[in-house]
Amino acid sequence: MNSVPATELNDGNRIPQLGLGVFQVPPEETQATVELALAEGYRHIDTAAAYDNEDGVGAAVAASDIPREEIFVTTKLRNSEQGYDAALRAFEASLGRLGLDRVDLYLIHWPVPVGGLYLDTWRALERIRAEGGTRSIGVSNFRVEDLEAVDGECEVVPAVNQIELHLRHQQAELRAWHDEHGVATEAWAPLGQGASLDEEAVAAIAAAHGVTPAQTILRWHLLIGNVVIPKSVTPSRIRENVEVFGFELTGEEMATLAALDSGARIGPDPATFAHD
Ligand code: NAD
Repeated sequence: MNSVPATELNDGNRIPQLGLGVFQVPPEETQATVELALAEGYRHIDTAAAYDNEDGVGAAVAASDIPREEIFVTTKLRNSEQGYDAALRAFEASLGRLGLDRVDLYLIHWPVPVGGLYLDTWRALERIRAEGGTRSIGVSNFRVEDLEAVDGECEVVPAVNQIELHLRHQQAELRAWHDEHGVATEAWAPLGQGASLDEEAVAAIAAAHGVTPAQTILRWHLLIGNVVIPKSVTPSRIRENVEVFGFELTGEEMATLAALDSGARIGPDPATFAHD
């Protein structure tokens, strides 16, 4: 079974550096998928209210023999539930669906700057943490200006910013800001939602190490310090994606992969995205 190292967060808590993302995992498949991942050594699951599968995640945690404190569960607040009171209510509803009495990390899913509510929302997350509902709080898809606003006007610095980050969109500016302020960088779409697997440069490096393209890319993320949450429902891929701790990449290979950055996004622009 695979053992995943942890990254220490700015609040002293520890997050397993690799977890399973369950975006687009159908609700009826979620429990079995998470159970399989737990059996393969995953100890970190990333869900969201908007994924409609928190109950499957909670059912897998409940069915497992692994002690609750050894499994790191993240969920996220829907865009339509931003605002102080709405966030408090939405958090309770997430806990209810998960069947848990606390989570490990609660994130604001998107900043929705046009709504102007993320600072009030963040203050609700500070309260949820203070009351023990979650061990850590963080944000997702926040831009430097959003992070600056939270840093300037609120008490707690986010532990994590979960952002779109893959070989074609390496997020140098945000990663530098995170490093300077002690915020952990968590990469969503770490495999470019599958597109990065077809890069020729990746195939060559994978062949040189006798590993797969997915393993090469995940290793690159880990070596630059990212927390990663690759998604799969396929048992062989779930296994493959966690077997990434037994090899290194050379400086030259890291430079080749760094050079693939083009700034191109796959997902929505956080400046304008407001959909639920
Ligand atoms: P990803 O980069 O993890 O790609 C997933 C896809 O890659 C899978 O559907 C599968 O087709 C393919 N894949 C996975 N492992 C493979 C392997 N070993 N070999 C071949 N193909 C493989 O993309 P993602 O699901 O968008 O992102 C991962 C997680 O990030 C999500 O599940 C979710 O938890 C999170 N996420 C967060 C946000 C956000 O706004 N915070 C947005 C999107 C995703």
